[in-house]
Amino acid sequence: MSTLLSVQNAHVRYPRTGRLATQLTGGHQRWVNVVRGVSLEIGKGETLAIVGESGSGKTTLAMALMGLVPMYEGDVSFEEQALAQGPRGRLRPDRERVAMMFQDPVGSLSPRMTVRAALAEPFEIHGRDVATDDEVVRLLDLVGLPAEFADRYPHQLSGGQARRIGVARALALEPALLIADEPTAGLDVSIQGDVLNLLSGLQERLGLGILIITHNLNIVRHVADHMAIMYLGRFVEQGSSEDIFWHPRHPYTKALLSANPNPDPDAETERLDLVGEVPSLLQLPSGCEFHTRCAFAEAKCTEVVPPDGSAGPGHEFRCHFPLQDR
Ligand code: SF4
Repeated sequence: MSTLLSVQNAHVRYPRTGRLATQLTGGHQRWVNVVRGVSLEIGKGETLAIVGESGSGKTTLAMALMGLVPMYEGDVSFEEQALAQGPRGRLRPDRERVAMMFQDPVGSLSPRMTVRAALAEPFEIHGRDVATDDEVVRLLDLVGLPAEFADRYPHQLSGGQARRIGVARALALEPALLIADEPTAGLDVSIQGDVLNLLSGLQERLGLGILIITHNLNIVRHVADHMAIMYLGRFVEQGSSEDIFWHPRHPYTKALLSANPNPDPDAETERLDLVGEVPSLLQLPSGCEFHTRCAFAEAKCTEVVPPDGSAGPGHEFRCHFPLQDR
């Protein structure tokens, strides 16, 4: 399968600001490293889910890929062409080929704009011919909504319908890659499934590559081909969804799975609770950065950074004492 997006060793950092930050770092650290050495690949027609708690850096990574924040270091190519960076380090993806669906679809729609105007807007922004009524109806049909929705305003949409409009807007210019940031946040569980099934169906029909950013590992396991688990700006485990779900090696992955019990009666039932808060990026723990929250931490974990380990083709993790090897 041809590679759509390739990211090698990506770093994103923000300037450190504020008195508290100065106190925490003794004034030595001028930057906060939010994404630290992340590599990934997405093939045409594939879905990768990046999973982690808030503050893990996953949304920042997505924004850097869209060129919305600068990427400090790293090589990114799209459709096998290296992506250029602007003078301030922002990537310049072709916004017609790479689209992003934001977390809050209602908030990202103007309350004074009808659905028709919202769906026509991407055409105007990119200097295309004005979207015809037929195109608006085609986009509504693509996401399973009837033509009469074209005349509705955002306040007349349910959460699930607004999410569908968000998908339709993102797909208006027929991108090759869709980045969906928390596509199911704030939706009832039944509607979450609808939105994920919609993305999956569209992927099959259109051959889209999809990058899903989410905090919930369980909800994406049926739609993602691959998963990467992110903690404090790094991937701590990545692999096929099947490997990650059935054979997690990193305790953090296992804890994320436990935090969102799976309705599947055949799924593993052993729990591993996630305790404590995510440490500050300004004061990263020594050794394995997960040791302050890990039920299996040993002395070595507080001192030595775990090397990359492999549990089979494409399944990598960073842990001195991986699960199932104890
Ligand atoms: Fe836990 Fe140690 Fe593995 Fe880190 S290296 S995840 S602290 S067992």
